Parts: sequence; C-alpha cells; structure tokens
Amino acid sequence: MDSHVFSPANAEHYATTMRRGIDVLTDHLASVEQPFSGRSVADVARTVDAVDLDQPVDVESALAELRDVYLDDAVWFHDAGYAAHLNCPVVVPALLAELFVSAVNSSLDTWDQSAGGTLIERRLVDWTTGRIGFADGADGVFTSGGTQSNLQALLMARGETFLRGHVDPGLAYNESLSRFRVFCSRDAHFSVQKSATILGLDADAVVPVDVDARHRMDPVALERALHDCLARGLVPMAVVATAGTTDLGAIDPLGPVADLCAEHGVWMHVDAAYGGGLLASRRRRHRLDGIERADSVTVDFHKTFFQPVSASAVLVRDAGALRHVTYHAEYLNPRTANLPNQVDKSMQTTRRFDALKLWMTLRTMGADAVGDGFDTVIDLAHAAADWVREQDDLLLRAEPELSTVVLRYQPGGVDDDHADELNPRIRQALWRDGRCVVAGTKVEGRSWLKLTLLNPATTLDDVVRVLERVRAAGDDLLEHDRQGVAS
Ligand SMILES: *Cc1c(COP(=O)(O)O)cnc(C)c1O
Repeated sequence: MDSHVFSPANAEHYATTMRRGIDVLTDHLASVEQPFSGRSVADVARTVDAVDLDQPVDVESALAELRDVYLDDAVWFHDAGYAAHLNCPVVVPALLAELFVSAVNSSLDTWDQSAGGTLIERRLVDWTTGRIGFADGADGVFTSGGTQSNLQALLMARGETFLRGHVDPGLAYNESLSRFRVFCSRDAHFSVQKSATILGLDADAVVPVDVDARHRMDPVALERALHDCLARGLVPMAVVATAGTTDLGAIDPLGPVADLCAEHGVWMHVDAAYGGGLLASRRRRHRLDGIERADSVTVDFHKTFFQPVSASAVLVRDAGALRHVTYHAEYLNPRTANLPNQVDKSMQTTRRFDALKLWMTLRTMGADAVGDGFDTVIDLAHAAADWVREQDDLLLRAEPELSTVVLRYQPGGVDDDHADELNPRIRQALWRDGRCVVAGTKVEGRSWLKLTLLNPATTLDDVVRVLERVRAAGDDLLEHDRQGVAS
C-alpha cells in the first residue's frame, strides 16, 4: 500500500507515475483520427470482460491495457467528426485544476474538509450570480449536473410554495402536494419530469406548455395554462423556462414568463444548462435578458464553459431558499458550528471541488475567452446552416438558435415518411463507421439528424465533411433499398 499513496518518501515515484500518465494520454489524444472506433457493444464487452480484476499488473501494463479496454473505443469530443450531444472538448486550465481536485481531494461539505475551497466555490457562485444580474442576497451551490441542479431548484420551489401560503392549511401534506403543478415548454429537458416524480408530485403534475414556431414557450399559452390551473383549485408551484433547449437551442421568452410568475407569485426557474455560456458572451449576452428576474437558475459549466464533467451550479435569487436542503448532523455541521459549511446548501454530502476548474479557467483564460468560444460555435452553426440550405438533398429544419443544427437527408423522390425511416438508419450507419458521430431526434413527429457543435476548433470544412458523410450514407442506404426491391 505504501507506494500507492503519496508520502514525502515516494514523491519521485508519484511524480514519475503521473507524468507517465500524461505522456500516454497526450500521445493518445494526438493519435486520435476519428471520434469513435465503430466497434460493436459485443466486441468492446469481450475486451472489458477479459480482464481479471483479481490479478493486478504493473502500471506500465495497466496503461497498455487501458488502450484496449477504454481509449481505443472511447468517444472523442475533441475530434472534429464528433457532433452529437452537448459534450465539449475541455480547456487545459480546467484539466490542470482537475489534477489538484483529485489529488488534494477536498470535500466541499464542511470547512474542516475543504478550508479555502469553500471560499473559492463561494466566489464562483457570486461571480455567476453577478453575471446573471442577481442582487446581493443571492447564493447557490455547485452540483454534479443540470439534472441535479434542476432537481434542487424544484425542491426549493416546492418548499417555498408551502411557505408562501399558497396552500390550504386544512389539507394534509400529500393532498396539498398532489395539487402542485409545474409548467414548462413541451421542449423542456426530461429532468423536469424526473424531478417532479422524485419530489412526490402527481404523475400529471408537469404541464407542457405550447411553443411558437421557433419552439419557444408561448406566453399566451402559459397564461392560459396558469389560469386553468388556478380555476381548478390547483397550485402553480413553478414555471421552468428553458434558456437553450437541448435539441433546438430555443430560448423561452424570459421577460414575459417573469411577468406572469410575478403576477401569480409563482417560482420562476430558468434552466440555462445549455444557454448558460451566454453569460460570458460579449456578443450575445442580451439573449438571456430577463434571467435576472428568475428565482433560480441552472448553469452547466460542463457544457458551454468547456469544463470537464462534472461542473454545474444551481443559483438562487434569495439565499433563504437554500433552507430546504439544510439539515444538521452533530458529527458534521452542528447547528452551533460557526464555520462556512457548503453542505448546508447542497443535496450531496461528500462533494468534489469542481469549482476549482472554473477558477483556473477564469484565472488564466478569462471569461471573455470562454464566451468567445461559445460565440464561435454559434457562428459555426449558422455557417453550417447556410451550407445545408444550398444542398438539394439536405433539408434544414430552421435557422439555429444556439449551436445545434437540425437537418435531414431527403433527396427528391423521397417522401416524408420514407425520410423518417431513412434518417435514423443514416445515424446508425455513421456510428458503426466511426468517422463521425451525429445525434438524432424527433421534431413534430418527424425524424431529424442533429449536429451539436461545441468545439471552437472545428471549422466549416470539418462540418461539411460530416455532412458529406451523412449524404454518402443516405445515398448508400437508398441504393441498397432500391436493389433490395429490384431483386
Ligand atoms: C443537458 C441538459 C440538462 C441536464 O444536464 P446534465 O448535466 O446532463 O445533468 C438539463 N437541461 C437542459 C436544457 C440540458 O440541455
């Protein structure tokens, strides 16, 4: 064991091992030629299963083995052929911080496990609430991701709804809870529904609100839904406005939603898991105008701030709302503790010091560089959309809202139903080939392909290469189908 944990006596071994890891990693990153190997689940499983976990090997052998079991078939987000989900290539300062996060291993629950780290996280929470435009008295906490941030936001909304006196005091807790409703656009992230279920709300507690042609929540439809809710004696617990939907990047109209929330005394949550990067943008920050009127906000730094997983935060206008996750334990954070304990604000106990990654990023790159990175991929999405528009056999769904481009392969003679069947197969064919990875989705019942562009180093030529592969795969499948019919 002694050579496996750091001690001053083995500092050299420690450093050599770490440097060796960096060498293997860098070599591998540099040798990546496509985002995925194309290997099947069964093939990869055979390699992983072949390892005998009860037979340890030396570090060199384990690193060599790591190529086989992981690196060779990993999905590489820094490769220009990767254009599928909201995964970003990570910035170097964040990676550098990651080394310290894991090596020091602070746990951000109590001061006596994270002295200093607690204050760094607090500064970053303040930095973020400042960018949002919250006044003094705001607060928040880092979380593992947007799903958890949304869950905590809705947990606070649930607690505040009880406290705000919207509830008939004659009712039992569960009866009250069963009347709570959460409003979000039809395109909101599925974590809203998941959170509602976890929080004990009714199966039909989440009310999907209609969207406009650009898939933004329609405020008139929201107003109607709120009135309908109240007329039925139900209790609006929260409105979740999405600032950047996962598929189309649509940003709900934050000002009008805030007006309706204010009018009815309803908690407003903004899910800016994707669009949060606009907080650092020098050219597009105005697209989040109105976010400062929210009660809570989700920001995923591991998406549009180019941070390694995991790094997210939930921010609140009024620090008081964090009371709904405050519990005390004698061994951890007794009521009498006069120290800054982040566990009082978090749903987690032991928690990574993910904030340090953002700290190092801001300290060495600066926020403008981060925002420029997001602006660059949004520009790229518009340029890619222009290119798609000029192709006869590719159909652009709409002008991009953020950095996703939604399109489909549909040459003349292929009707809508046929294209619906063809495009998911194109996606699978590309996945099996491995030279590019694209996502798929359904919009208004139709199948589309989706490129999510989050790599600022990717060029229009790179994206065109991906789109040409989409076309080639589509042509192949069509040809194959026609021959199948002929024979
Ligand atoms: C990605 C995403 C989430 C979920 O975030 P995770 O970090 O994956 O948990 C929530 N909302 C939106 C709009 C997202 O795009």
